[in-house]
Amino acid sequence: MDDCIFCKIIKKEIPANIVYEDEEILAFRDINPVAPVHILVIPKKHIESILELKKEDEVLVGKIYTVINKIAEQEKIDKNGFRIIVNCGEDGGQEVKHLHFHLIGGKKLGIKICD
Ligand code: 5GP
Ligand code: ZN
Repeated sequence: MDDCIFCKIIKKEIPANIVYEDEEILAFRDINPVAPVHILVIPKKHIESILELKKEDEVLVGKIYTVINKIAEQEKIDKNGFRIIVNCGEDGGQEVKHLHFHLIGGKKLGIKICD
């Protein structure tokens, strides 16, 4: 997708602080972190949101979670824990229309997941 900022990061047209990469998945630090660790984990395939996931993407989504496990270890937040957030659509507050998993940790997070 030509106008997708995350596709541009995947193509290295826009710089990002990449913490993990393989042939299907990229993970990089959020430009506006809300916690000491705030990483976006994305499929390299342009999928607009969780609503666009197809049956064929089920393995890919499963892999994203095992990659998250690896990154959590790498970032040393596996022992204390972390939160995964996937925003979807207008009410969910999704700003970037390329499926992404927020991996947030490195501090004790608030008990609220919405306000
Ligand atoms: P959303 O609100 O769509 O769930 O999350 C989008 C996230 O992408 C936000 O946390 C925002 O800070 C991050 N973001 C937006 N543009 C860029 C960028 O160019 N680089 C990086 N690293 N993060 C970005
Ligand atoms: Zn994209």
